Amino acid sequence: MSDCIFCKIVAGQLPCGKVYEDEDVLAFHDIHPFARVHFLIIPKQHVATLGDCTPAHEKLLGKMLLLAPRLAKEQGLDAGFKTLINTGRGGGQEVFHIHVHVFGGGDPVSRS
Ligand code: AMP
Ligand code: ZN
Repeated sequence: MSDCIFCKIVAGQLPCGKVYEDEDVLAFHDIHPFARVHFLIIPKQHVATLGDCTPAHEKLLGKMLLLAPRLAKEQGLDAGFKTLINTGRGGGQEVFHIHVHVFGGGDPVSRS
């Protein structure tokens, strides 16, 4: 997808603060973090949304989720973390290349 910013990051055409990379996935710091630690886990292949996934993506999705606790710990989130997958316009998705938000360690959003 030539107009997809996350595909451009995967291709090295845009910079990112890399957290992790292997042959299937890439993780990098969110450019507008909403917690002290906030990074995204994305597949290297372009998949627009969770709603576009099929059983063919089962292994990839599992890999992305299993990376979350490992990378969160490496980023210092020993006490736990949050995950978020926005799906579709109604789900608040802005970048249409599937990604798992992993964040924690200080939440500036007050719920009181
Ligand atoms: P979403 O609303 O789930 O689609 O979230 C997209 C996220 O991608 C937002 O939190 C953005 O701050 C983040 N983002 C957009 N562009 C970049 C970029 N070039 N590098 C890192 N994060 C980005
Ligand atoms: Zn893409």
